[in-house]
Amino acid sequence: MKDAHFLVVGAGIGGLTAAAALQRAGARVTVFEQAPELKEIGAGVIITPQAMHAFDYLGIADRVAAEAGPAECYHSQDYATGEILLRGPSSEEFRTRFGAGFHQCHRADLHSALADAAAAGGNYTLHLGHRFVGATQEGGRVTATFANGLRYEADALIGCDGNASLVRTSTFGSEPVKYTEQVAYRAVLDFDRVPKALLDAPYSYFVGPGRMLLFYPLRNRKLMNVIGIAHEPDWQEEGWIIPATRDEFVRLYQDFHPAVLALLGALPEDAIFKWALRDREPLSAWTQGRITMLGDAAHPMTPFLGQGACLAIEDGIVLARAVDQASTVGEAFALYEGARKQRTTTVQLASRDRGRDLQGRKTGKAGPGQNAESMGLFAYNPATVPL
Ligand SMILES: Cc1cc2nc3c(=O)[nH]c(=O)nc-3n(C[C@H](O)[C@H](O)[C@H](O)COP(=O)(O)OP(=O)(O)OC[C@H]3O[C@@H](n4cnc5c(N)ncnc54)[C@H](O)[C@@H]3O)c2cc1C
Repeated sequence: MKDAHFLVVGAGIGGLTAAAALQRAGARVTVFEQAPELKEIGAGVIITPQAMHAFDYLGIADRVAAEAGPAECYHSQDYATGEILLRGPSSEEFRTRFGAGFHQCHRADLHSALADAAAAGGNYTLHLGHRFVGATQEGGRVTATFANGLRYEADALIGCDGNASLVRTSTFGSEPVKYTEQVAYRAVLDFDRVPKALLDAPYSYFVGPGRMLLFYPLRNRKLMNVIGIAHEPDWQEEGWIIPATRDEFVRLYQDFHPAVLALLGALPEDAIFKWALRDREPLSAWTQGRITMLGDAAHPMTPFLGQGACLAIEDGIVLARAVDQASTVGEAFALYEGARKQRTTTVQLASRDRGRDLQGRKTGKAGPGQNAESMGLFAYNPATVPL
């Protein structure tokens, strides 16, 4: 498989991880991104120990940790009284238990670190403004077609094009999508605008009846990332950058603790976005011949366990190791899919259950319920897991 040429569709977190790791395995990589420039949205993402192992493997763990700043401990609080119900372990404790800690990262910083790692591989080409529309396979080659009319041929193609993947629908057909009746809101504000009452527990999760609110600092406490998920039976639009107003966000949390309302009241009006959460069934296969998928394209999931990016990162490393070990594309993709399917399906289904659990909550006293740590997801290293 040395010198095999891969087309990677989508330069998101999963696609760039795969691009960097595949070059380590001796492959040539051409990445296609529909956006005209390489950038991520201004929001946070929590990187847990398994993904920090992946960053160690790619040589970017120190950069990611330094840009994020000291990791904050997780808290769960009663939505109405603010009583602290649970104080999570520190990143140091995780390092002792799992060999790596966790970090609250700005998505743009993570994305830049991965883009630099991919570019540094030396066997990499990036095409921006290329929207994938379809692929054909013939004579041991795959040809991808883009909306601008251009076509590219290689040994294999990896769909890393996210939740609404066209690689998935063009290869496997479209699958039923269920609206969960939940809408997520997100915003980022300057840390110095955060109400003082929240500073003792700046990484905190408030679960109220049918709603949750999570916030955590980014970039050495320069910014605060805020995410709310609330019940909304009618509105169904999917997409990451649909503007929302401060009033509609605040209105949904009227019965939450006054400090939470003060936080929402301090959000800048032009930096609030929302999107409807949709759920899809796990796929029975991710691979057809010389085409496979990773990340949200392969296992789209609701965000209730906050593990989608970490799983996409794990996928990229495991896929590249499978390519390194195998002698054909078919063997590599079978090894990859075999190593990843059970874990990602478990998380997909558990995330759905957790969403239902949160939606059915009548009180804020019950604690956060099942989470990624209690499921044992952090005791995994994609760089060493047997394939
Ligand atoms: C509220 C919320 C909070 C989250 N928090 C966390 C968290 O704390 N930790 C965590 O691990 N995960 C988290 N996630 C999940 C995580 O953000 C996603 O799972 C992750 O971004 C998936 O990565 P990806 O590379 O598969 O897809 P994406 O990041 O969606 O990247 C896909 C890329 O493909 C491109 N693309 C799409 N279609 C085409 C096409 N046809 N042609 C060419 N390019 C295309 C897109 O422009 C994009 O650049 C969260 C998600 C949400 C919604």
